[in-house]
Amino acid sequence: MVRVIDVPTLQRFVAERGIEVVLSELTEAIEAAYVRWDDFDKSARHATHFDHGVIELMPVADATRYACKYVNGHPDNPKDGRMTVAALGILSDVASGYPLLVTEMTLLTALRTAATSAMVARHCARLDTHTLALIGTGAQSEFQTLALRNERPLRQIRFYDVDPAAMEKYAHNMAQQNLELVPCASIAEAVAGADLVTVATAIKDRQSLLTPAMLRPGMHINAVGGDCPGKTELDPVVLPACDIIVEYEPQTRIEGEIQGSTLPVTEFHEIARGTRDGRQTRDAITLFDSVGFALEDHAALNWLYANLRKATDVALIPDPEDPRNLFAMLQPPMPTYGRAANF
Ligand code: NAD
Repeated sequence: MVRVIDVPTLQRFVAERGIEVVLSELTEAIEAAYVRWDDFDKSARHATHFDHGVIELMPVADATRYACKYVNGHPDNPKDGRMTVAALGILSDVASGYPLLVTEMTLLTALRTAATSAMVARHCARLDTHTLALIGTGAQSEFQTLALRNERPLRQIRFYDVDPAAMEKYAHNMAQQNLELVPCASIAEAVAGADLVTVATAIKDRQSLLTPAMLRPGMHINAVGGDCPGKTELDPVVLPACDIIVEYEPQTRIEGEIQGSTLPVTEFHEIARGTRDGRQTRDAITLFDSVGFALEDHAALNWLYANLRKATDVALIPDPEDPRNLFAMLQPPMPTYGRAANF
């Protein structure tokens, strides 16, 4: 039997636990995985590119668990009423190779991406960070806001999106969060005075949303949307001014803001393991060049498997009496092996 977590099950679970608690637990789980960096068999994800988007497989394993995520990135999907990013996850037992869990992973990806941003901001953003500029108020934006507020005493959110409907949606969703919400008419206006800048747009192009004139000493930039070859968000001239933190350098060199560049970077595990400080000086400008790494999914899937037990077990793997007589499973009378709830 394989535990299957569908969208309603995950919705109920997060509602019962509290979204801020979930974000905080995921932040801890992901950082703990980065501390165990050497335990993992890692690789850059496998990406199949199309003119209008990408479909990716993201595997990673340690000695006990193998995880793999299927995820897409289709920036024009919202025009047809579909999300830019949708995902499914699998967690397997390394000893037998059998899957343990198949789960929705679109909501879980938004949660883990925000938790990862928070984890890096914990080490890189100044402690007295009160103002967040948010560029792009799409599906990831509220998750990012709440996760970052778990780590720093955010009071003001200055936000901008090219689509006014996305800005209205964000303002509505964040209205009860006791934050000063400042809608802005441009990126420059949003970034002015911000200590922390999150960029989470979805355009399959080389963009120059943040320019050198917008940088301030001590700023931490959390660049989430540049995650594919030919899809970046920052003016490349910004990069040499920053201390650049990445998840897994071989993947980020292909997909991140640093694609095509030879600039030096720090892999986050060095910071997690205490061999390097995230923030070197008060005035340094730090940049988290986030692309999303399988290790974060491994941590999120293990956290989910350990904590969400009220799910349905489904017969996705045959269980023949004689493991070498798989054929008997298709001979009459058909052996019964059906669905059973485990709660
Ligand atoms: P989304 O399509 O829901 O939202 C993107 C928003 O950006 C839209 O509201 C759009 O109007 C806005 N936008 C586009 N161009 C803009 C511009 N020039 N200025 C301001 N706003 C602009 O997408 P999403 O699910 O929120 O994802 C955002 C980005 O994050 C995507 O590029 C996605 O691929 C990426 N992503 C990264 C990770 C990661 O781990 N790094 C994980 C998930 C998603």
